[in-house]
Amino acid sequence: MEYLFDTHTHSNFSHDGVPSLNALAEAAINRGLKYLAITDHCDKDCVALPGFSWVRQIDLDTRKREFAAVKAKFADRITLAEGLEYGYAKEANGLYLDVEKSYPTDYVINSVHIVAGTDVYFREYFDCRSKQEAYGTYLKDVLASLDAPYHYDSVGHITYIARCATYDDKRLLYGDHADVIDEILRKTVAKGKALEVNTSSKGTKCDLFHDTTILRRYKELGGELVTIGSDTHTPEGLSTDFDLAAKALLYCGFRYAFVYKEHKPVAVSLEK
Ligand SMILES: [Zn+2]
Ligand SMILES: [Zn+2]
Repeated sequence: MEYLFDTHTHSNFSHDGVPSLNALAEAAINRGLKYLAITDHCDKDCVALPGFSWVRQIDLDTRKREFAAVKAKFADRITLAEGLEYGYAKEANGLYLDVEKSYPTDYVINSVHIVAGTDVYFREYFDCRSKQEAYGTYLKDVLASLDAPYHYDSVGHITYIARCATYDDKRLLYGDHADVIDEILRKTVAKGKALEVNTSSKGTKCDLFHDTTILRRYKELGGELVTIGSDTHTPEGLSTDFDLAAKALLYCGFRYAFVYKEHKPVAVSLEK
């Protein structure tokens, strides 16, 4: 079965995205998708923290205009959700409160990218830390991000730390950080947020659906809300590995994934 949605994608309104909104929507329609959330980076963390002024900030006014046009153009062919991916830093909380006042969205992913002053996309974060310390510090920030004062719908890619790690075994293992992962999962449930299953492991096979201990634990703790997102920055990457993610979720006891419309979760069956 094909899964005809994607909840995490980037256009060229993201500093690192390739396709225009129009090209991404068209590619999704050509793939048969019925729902596409375009969740461009809103990196106010890079504004609030020193050292990231090189990151191009999203032009929200232009995006608002262009999104409305693309949404109207394809309205009878696909549901387009106007999303953003916020890069969490507590120093940026006030800036996101301003964003949400001026830029209404359908869906917001809250993600941690910068830890201890470094984007964990870069190897320097790992060079001076043991794996236990590097992942533990990141997870504490993920836990803190759940208390962000602005609205968000899902907890983005908690396996981001593994994507570019330099250790032989990059996997985020439940057993290595059980206490803080339990706290993250419990709080995600208590706050009514969704846990994102991100399928963009860049070949590392480190996402939540590869080693399902964290997903099973989430289910045990009452977790129901899960999203699946490819995190693609190109049209070709739409819905990559969604069949594998769905299979893993079904194995863990989930029957539905969720997409968001006007910040409300809508269930999509995972069963064939
Ligand atoms: Zn991200
Ligand atoms: Zn992303």
